[in-house]
Amino acid sequence: MAYDSDNIFAKILRGEIPSEKLYEDENTYVFMDIMPRANGHCLVIPKAPARNMLDATPDQLAACLATVQKMGHAVMKAFGADGVTVQQFNEAAGGQEVFHLHYHVLPRHEGKALRAPGQMADFDVLKSQADQIRAAL
Ligand code: 5GP
Repeated sequence: MAYDSDNIFAKILRGEIPSEKLYEDENTYVFMDIMPRANGHCLVIPKAPARNMLDATPDQLAACLATVQKMGHAVMKAFGADGVTVQQFNEAAGGQEVFHLHYHVLPRHEGKALRAPGQMADFDVLKSQADQIRAAL
């Protein structure tokens, strides 16, 4: 399947729609998920186009995973988490909804389930959680 440069994350990378940015480097960009399934739920994406893991280059995957690890440490510290869940979906049948490669980074607390998907965040709360993560980086 071809990469569609009109996907939402491509628009975020171009600055055409806003995002709550947490971190960026030469190859990756990190921002808050607007429908967080846990406090501090963030998304790591490559700056260069890739639809998902299946068409990404090994360098893109390596860059993303290095940033995922960095964000894992940051969200653990920011929220006093006990663990981190990393999710990554490929194609609609694999659960993917936005077709630009992304990794979900979810801080986890012992015994606490993820929230149901599809619930929009309160933007003031999202921003204050982003401040906590930025401070932990
Ligand atoms: P997936 O493709 O992995 O199933 O999920 C896409 C994720 O992107 C969802 O967790 C959803 O909440 C998030 N998302 C969808 N649209 C936007 C958006 O416009 N901004 C941000 N920050 N996140 C989004």
